[in-house]
Amino acid sequence: MAETRTWEPPPRPFPVAYSPKYRVDYGPHVFPVEKYDRVWQTLRQDDVLGPLLEAVEPAPLPLEDLARVHTWEYLQKLEEGRLTPYEVAILEIPYRRDVYEAFRISCGGTWQAAQWAMRWGLGVHIGGGFHHAFPDHGEGFCMLNDVAVAIEKGLAEGLFRRALIVDLDVHHGNGNAAIFRDRSDVFTFSIHQENNYPFVKPPSHLDIGLPDGADDRIYLAALRRGLATIETRFEPDIVFYIAGADPYEHDRLGGLGLTMAGFRERDTLVFEWVRRRGVACVITLGGGYALRVEDTVAIHVQTIRQALELWLSIQS
Ligand SMILES: [Zn+2]
Repeated sequence: MAETRTWEPPPRPFPVAYSPKYRVDYGPHVFPVEKYDRVWQTLRQDDVLGPLLEAVEPAPLPLEDLARVHTWEYLQKLEEGRLTPYEVAILEIPYRRDVYEAFRISCGGTWQAAQWAMRWGLGVHIGGGFHHAFPDHGEGFCMLNDVAVAIEKGLAEGLFRRALIVDLDVHHGNGNAAIFRDRSDVFTFSIHQENNYPFVKPPSHLDIGLPDGADDRIYLAALRRGLATIETRFEPDIVFYIAGADPYEHDRLGGLGLTMAGFRERDTLVFEWVRRRGVACVITLGGGYALRVEDTVAIHVQTIRQALELWLSIQS
């Protein structure tokens, strides 16, 4: 049985991790880097939530922490700007010093949120969820794997003993699956569109690949089934939720059919499961490439708003 945990009362203002440095310049690119600013601004301007929140800019994690996941060879290449053209091509974002710095900060943000989660039950990072980064290379817009780094640091420092990744981005979490493949103290769970990037999918502890066009009903049934399965297989101290906005019906890189109402129900299922089990919860954003960027922002805001309402017991 899991120990019964008691959280400290959440402070007011309640901190959320966010950095204006996430808005790097990718040039013309499908990744909406402005979403981070816009999610924070939307929350900050909310009549009820805004006054209760405070943005905290995370510190970039030192190389020693990144090396808990990433190889020194890869980190040296990033430090010295020596990625090969092939390595930049599969990364699918430009390499620049400020881009690398933003990823180091995002590792710090997820780590910061994990510390908050173990104290107050919830840690929010308006960023992160870069699940395609592997130890020795980055791919698919992910240069460093913030969730894996935070998990390895948390385990090494005794912040928690068992971590669950609930990855609901439309893309399979290949980096995390590969990194934690043989581990019994980390459980990786991914619901994704089967027929989508990445085309090689190292097995997670639990994978549910959905057919093209899967709608709210199919998606939510899969999520219920997945969470029920995990209940019999793993008892986490902490959940890292990669709350991707790209399963959205109007996403440019995703081919699933979730509606805004579907996302709301998705988040409810995750948060109720987490709270019922008395587990700490870290929220990271993951991907989101809606035709209208305001839809991506609205999905992320809805996730964070719902979590804050639950954990902070507020009505808005
Ligand atoms: Zn994605």
